[in-house]
Amino acid sequence: MGILLLAFCIFAMLPVPGHAAGPDRAEQLSGYEATIRGILAAGKLPIIDVEYHHGDKISLSSLLGRMDANGVALTWLGPNEKLGSEESLRQYERYPGRIVPTTVHGDGPKWHGNDGQFLESLEKDAKSGRFFAMGEFEARHYPSSTNDRDVHKPVDSEGMQTIFRISSETGIPFLLHHEAEDALLPELERMLAKYPKAKVVWCHVGRNRNRATWKRFRDVSAVVEFLQKYPNLYFDIVQSKPGSKYPGTGQVEGILYNAPRDPIEFLESDWKKLFEGFPDRFVIGTDVNTGRFPQYDRVITTFRQVILSKINQDAAARMAYKNAWKLMTGTEWKD
Ligand SMILES: [Zn+2]
Repeated sequence: MGILLLAFCIFAMLPVPGHAAGPDRAEQLSGYEATIRGILAAGKLPIIDVEYHHGDKISLSSLLGRMDANGVALTWLGPNEKLGSEESLRQYERYPGRIVPTTVHGDGPKWHGNDGQFLESLEKDAKSGRFFAMGEFEARHYPSSTNDRDVHKPVDSEGMQTIFRISSETGIPFLLHHEAEDALLPELERMLAKYPKAKVVWCHVGRNRNRATWKRFRDVSAVVEFLQKYPNLYFDIVQSKPGSKYPGTGQVEGILYNAPRDPIEFLESDWKKLFEGFPDRFVIGTDVNTGRFPQYDRVITTFRQVILSKINQDAAARMAYKNAWKLMTGTEWKD
């Protein structure tokens, strides 16, 4: 009897998924809300940055300085594999009201090496109720300006199945990195159809790195088609400088801008129409990491000058913070 009672007590002490010990959710939300309302009251459009790559080389006080200077209310702080998801909770404790606990990114050797323990602890973290979002998980990834990862972990491979399933089961969004080559689209479409409840933010839309192999995503039509077909799909927007070329092909990668014209690029009219026609489906992510940290101001300024100030106010507010708010809280932002 004593043993049964003991067993029961241990069972009762186990955390219930979604309600594990952690910061009080209502308190967290009111802190975030106060920050957003503070920026609105100052007459600025607040931004929630959904894609930040946190390593140990940039101090959080430096990040907070850039956020303050640029009207960025909240940052989904995705740590690298080495630091682990807990790092985001530690930084939240230092800057509540600004940092949104986010799990690790899937961009390191553990993710690419199909490390079982990595996925197991990711699932535990996502189901602990302590995190609002998951990081960016790489499927096909070309080498970029700050790394040389030339990898392809198919979107329908086992690790990705786990991410899509966790998102479906928890309602927590995740970011996906996948180069939009025609040949790589079927693996993504199979998953979007298989997991209609997963909340997928496909990163860097508006980019085309190779006109020869990215034929469908050469203009907005494929974006429209995907948005119509998959109600669970969201996008963050290409962060590279207008007119900048992808070194791998020498082609200008931002296809949402008019022909490069400094200092302020113009938004192509069909992209403006896209953002205004699907105002609930786009969010802002800086994609800033250690190497790109000096570009923080430029990235936010581009979003503000080239996109947010060029679309109607309702769509701009949704893209800047309301859509991200809904993704991370599950509820609509209340004006
Ligand atoms: Zn990415």
